[in-house]
Amino acid sequence: MVKIKKWFHRTDVWIFAVLLFAALLLWLVPHLATESTKQATAEIYVDKELVETIVLDLEQNQAQQYTVKGAIGDVTIETKDGQIRIKEAPCNDQICVHTSWIKNQGQVIVCIPSHLLIQLKNGADDDGTDTTVY
Ligand SMILES: [Zn+2]
Repeated sequence: MVKIKKWFHRTDVWIFAVLLFAALLLWLVPHLATESTKQATAEIYVDKELVETIVLDLEQNQAQQYTVKGAIGDVTIETKDGQIRIKEAPCNDQICVHTSWIKNQGQVIVCIPSHLLIQLKNGADDDGTDTTVY
């Protein structure tokens, strides 16, 4: 009787250890992934539709330009050093151009006349809560 009890107890410990290891692994893998890639992804929306996804490279020394068709004409977007900005836009207010460079997760650039939105995700300041869901 004592032997059976002991056996059950050992199994419980074993199951607990496995569960703990699995939980640790699940927590660690996305955590490590976000730690090693400290770059943001810029999502560009026109009329609420995703038209372009750009991974912002922190090592990118040379500026790169993208042209996106907005509601009133072409919008020139520039990336450099893990940052993104609207370089030129056909809008009158130029608010989007004056927003200048953004690089942190959650930051946005909006050009209302162009119906254009640039949103940053998975940036350096990300705590990982959004990225653990795949
Ligand atoms: Zn604008």
